[in-house]
Amino acid sequence: MNFADLHLHSRHSDGTYTPLELVDAAVENELSLIALTDHDTLEGCPAVAEAAARVGLRFIPGTEITAELNGRELHILGYLVDLDHEELRDELARAQKIRQNRVREMVARLNARHVPLEVEAVFELANCRAPGRPHVARALVSAGICGSLDEAFERFLKKDRPGWVPKEKMSAVRAVDLIHAAGGLAVMAHPGLNHDDTLIPKLARAGLDGLECFHPKHNSSATEKYQAMASSLGLLVTGGSDCHGRSKNRPTMGTVKLPTEFVDLLLERHASRRAERAASARDGGAGSAAGTPAGI
Ligand code: AMP
Ligand code: FE
Ligand code: FE
Ligand code: ZN
Repeated sequence: MNFADLHLHSRHSDGTYTPLELVDAAVENELSLIALTDHDTLEGCPAVAEAAARVGLRFIPGTEITAELNGRELHILGYLVDLDHEELRDELARAQKIRQNRVREMVARLNARHVPLEVEAVFELANCRAPGRPHVARALVSAGICGSLDEAFERFLKKDRPGWVPKEKMSAVRAVDLIHAAGGLAVMAHPGLNHDDTLIPKLARAGLDGLECFHPKHNSSATEKYQAMASSLGLLVTGGSDCHGRSKNRPTMGTVKLPTEFVDLLLERHASRRAERAASARDGGAGSAAGTPAGI
């Protein structure tokens, strides 16, 4: 049987693997297809695509958009989007600016509490356009202020701790529309982490294409529950390890191996969407690329 991992992070967001290391790890884990889903960026996709092609590994470009619905943060995976789509690129650039400013604000708040962390140290360590709390945590550890990443989150970075700064997020409906406009498919990441399953039918009505049923944080009964929900709502089933590289206490590659039959269905849905768009463009209906109903 062939296996895929549709949820992976690299150094272009808060993962530790370079694109080459990511591909090496996929080969080690005997995967035949991977997707890159860095937070709020598509930047690593060309390099991973190239490295994957060299070793005969299939590759799906993607991103994991930080979004919100009903005041809750949730993550929308966008697969097979056009990497050059201007509106998507602009929105991701905006999200990256928000992340960079949030890091500045987090460090300012820590400094106000006499934690001597330098913002340049965080940016240097992150070395990417989409930095986040894990980079601040790593900088706190490498400055010797904290003994571990967990300690950094517990003492400083969790909600309502001294370095906590709320994040401005795009609406989930907008994220779904944007992914569709860029020719991609929108999948809700790790629904089990949201503890609010009522969000799923709402997103389905907004045009969501799939649900990440297989995830290291879902036990087998959660996986079954989400597969049943996907089936009743007509959503694709996806899955991945959400690997952030070599990091203690975090999921690693290989913890979720998705049979590629699920990916075949995703690719079929993507191809039929593309054919529908081409037909509607021929009929003079160009512009409404995805035809997504907006109302929730
Ligand atoms: P952000 O998007 O900047 O709010 O950061 C969220 C990231 O921090 C996600 O990838 C989480 O998995 C990660 N994270 C949350 N808690 C911890 C923790 N205790 N240790 C390491 N990473 C964590
Ligand atoms: Fe992350
Ligand atoms: Fe996520
Ligand atoms: Zn992720």
